[in-house]
Amino acid sequence: MWTYHPDLLATPVPRYTSYPTAAEFHAGVGPADLAAALDRVAADAELSLYLHIPFCHQICWYCGCNTGAANRTARLDGYLARLSEEIELVARRLGGRGRVGRIAFGGGSPNAITPQAFLRLVGQIKTAFGAAAPVLSVEVDPRGFDAAWAAALAEAGAARVSLGVQTFDPAIQMAIGRVQPRAEIAATVDLLREAGVESINFDLMYGLPGQTDQALDDSIGESVAMGADRLAVFGYAHVPHLIPRQRRIDASALPDAEARFAQAALAHEKLVADGYAAIGFDHFAKPGDAIAVAARAGRLRRNFQGFTEDESEVVIGLGASAISEFPDLLMQNEKNGGRWHMAVSAGRFAAARGVRRSIDDQWRAAAIEELLCQGRADLGGITDRSAIALRLARFATHKLIRWEGSVLLLAPESLPYARVIASALDAYRGPAVMRFSSAV
Ligand code: SF4
Repeated sequence: MWTYHPDLLATPVPRYTSYPTAAEFHAGVGPADLAAALDRVAADAELSLYLHIPFCHQICWYCGCNTGAANRTARLDGYLARLSEEIELVARRLGGRGRVGRIAFGGGSPNAITPQAFLRLVGQIKTAFGAAAPVLSVEVDPRGFDAAWAAALAEAGAARVSLGVQTFDPAIQMAIGRVQPRAEIAATVDLLREAGVESINFDLMYGLPGQTDQALDDSIGESVAMGADRLAVFGYAHVPHLIPRQRRIDASALPDAEARFAQAALAHEKLVADGYAAIGFDHFAKPGDAIAVAARAGRLRRNFQGFTEDESEVVIGLGASAISEFPDLLMQNEKNGGRWHMAVSAGRFAAARGVRRSIDDQWRAAAIEELLCQGRADLGGITDRSAIALRLARFATHKLIRWEGSVLLLAPESLPYARVIASALDAYRGPAVMRFSSAV
């Protein structure tokens, strides 16, 4: 049972899908840094690719992703042509170095493009990077998913699919601008199973307008009944000053901080009682799923896509706004579609901003990741350990953490506070800033 300590959750904190976080990215890092990082990739390095498809057939009001309406074929075709050029550009620079073990398609909604275009991209990547049998994961919007797309996933050998579900409650779906009947989601799951997809993730949300505990409980129950192998349960972050499309959401109907906390706790308790393993602070998986196996073996990782079993040190992002990750560098492509087009069509990398990671950054990145993934981190390499201990004293008072020498350990009931505790290791965090979502 989690205990609510509002004072410990008062400060908005990053999600720590990277360290330094994207808030520290700046324009002093650019294409030459990306080229140099690619040149440093070893011949036998394990690589992962992330392809961003910034289009959706329907735009949800809550969405903070870099995406736009997939309503003009010419626009989609132009994007895919550039993406194809960017794949060649990066592959040429690598010159055969590195082994691509994983390819992730995200967005947006990858199924906003045609299944034929998807298969062409997969084929091109396999050839360009010499990737014989990569693990393929794809984000899917159940709205508009059909048998042709399922056949394409089967042909490509997609192993993992993540479904945007959020809630099964029709009234809440209306309130967040994402209407998708239960039957549509169930049909998508059936098609995916027939296509041989071995792991299906459901993204769910709590803290939605008008959402009661019962409504959340029902959505979790539906997801479990449909056989979800994994679930990611995120708190809705209402930040209309940053995401203007959220202005359509009725803020007065949002659960308050205490109700959000109770919903996060409810999701955790229900899913664990249903036999799912808790993965990090907001993911859940059946014990036999690859991510649960990785977590038990202490191999869970966290990257821009969230908690993952992907152990690659290098993730190369392709497409507008995609982020690349190297041990000593984080880089984001141009978010602006027009500028991304111009760079790639001129034969240049579209890397626009990022951050070089110092040795201190790398120590802190490893410690934050370890803390969030393994619930413990050895801070032996971090110089300001006593200042961190001081910052965490109130968490120790509540028995949410303890120390064994230089090792910081999280108590099981500290999960809702994990990001706040991790923020004590963050050398860039000053006073609270409103660009982050609430801590739970
Ligand atoms: S389908 Fe997904 S990416 Fe597209 S608008 Fe909705 S939440 Fe955002």
